[in-house]
Amino acid sequence: MKPVAFDYARPRTIADALELLDARPGAKILAGGQTLGPMLNLRLVQPELLIDITRITDLITVTETDDGVAIGACVTHASIEDGAIGGIASGHLDQVAAGIAYRAVRTRGTIGGSLTHADPAADWFAALLAFGAELEIAGTTGTRRIALDDFVKGAMETDLGPDELVTAVHIRKCGREARHGYHKICRKTGEFAEAIGAVTVEEKTGRFRLVAAGGSHAPVVFTDPSSLFRTADPLDVRSFDVDMTAAALRDAGMNADDYDLRLRAVAMQRAVKEAAQR
Ligand SMILES: Cc1cc2nc3c(=O)[nH]c(=O)nc-3n(C[C@H](O)[C@H](O)[C@H](O)COP(=O)(O)OP(=O)(O)OC[C@H]3O[C@@H](n4cnc5c(N)ncnc54)[C@H](O)[C@@H]3O)c2cc1C
Repeated sequence: MKPVAFDYARPRTIADALELLDARPGAKILAGGQTLGPMLNLRLVQPELLIDITRITDLITVTETDDGVAIGACVTHASIEDGAIGGIASGHLDQVAAGIAYRAVRTRGTIGGSLTHADPAADWFAALLAFGAELEIAGTTGTRRIALDDFVKGAMETDLGPDELVTAVHIRKCGREARHGYHKICRKTGEFAEAIGAVTVEEKTGRFRLVAAGGSHAPVVFTDPSSLFRTADPLDVRSFDVDMTAAALRDAGMNADDYDLRLRAVAMQRAVKEAAQR
């Protein structure tokens, strides 16, 4: 099958893109096209107009902010893999990017497209929930900033309005002592994850974010280690309890079978182990 006929526009500014979105309710945003392309081919979406936002300079720029970094929504996975976001988190996110699909997909796919699609198996989704990232969103009535935790409403469900555009991802710089871990379980290298564990631990501030994601279940974020570890140390991997964690995931509303719950708990344990070793 091939897509239905559609118009194509390539605005050069965010304002022009928003104007088009507002004027044409049947329009759809096109970023890297790595998800939208197949959806168009299968006619799962039948837009009147595609608004290609990849030539908008503000969206392909990485900017240092007072407390971290702002990554333009159209920055590709490949450019992050190649170091576009600098030394934030000591290259941890570069490695996450390198594990997405294969290089050809990474050269087109964008961080904003991935987060907007909100596939619970997607890598950025889990990795950036562990960082407590925020999204900047522009709409015809102004701009707003929202925590990724609040943006994501469920598997492939977000808070984004039909006339809105994700413009940037904000990541706060963690302290030097911060530890990060990420573990993706998939059958073949470069596939979407069956299970993901992603963690950030800042011992000085007591900040702890451990994410369970992957597969088709909406991710769960733990900010209190007490239901997962037998001791109070969130970097003591020997005290991380897979059974307790699987039960905690079920209590948190993850409606998965025992195998899936344990798979996530194991991914989380391996992420903690990686963080402890860094
Ligand atoms: C073979 C293959 C393997 C893959 N493997 C993985 C993997 O292992 N891990 C992984 O995480 N991902 C994987 N992906 C997905 C890939 O990472 C895509 O890049 C991502 O899902 C979508 O990003 P995109 O820029 O291509 O968005 P598009 O496909 O262009 O858009 C996706 C959706 O988001 C909307 N959108 C895009 N950008 C914006 C924006 N800024 N504001 C508002 N709406 C927007 C579009 O309208 C569309 O609905 C894979 C893809 C393929 C084709």
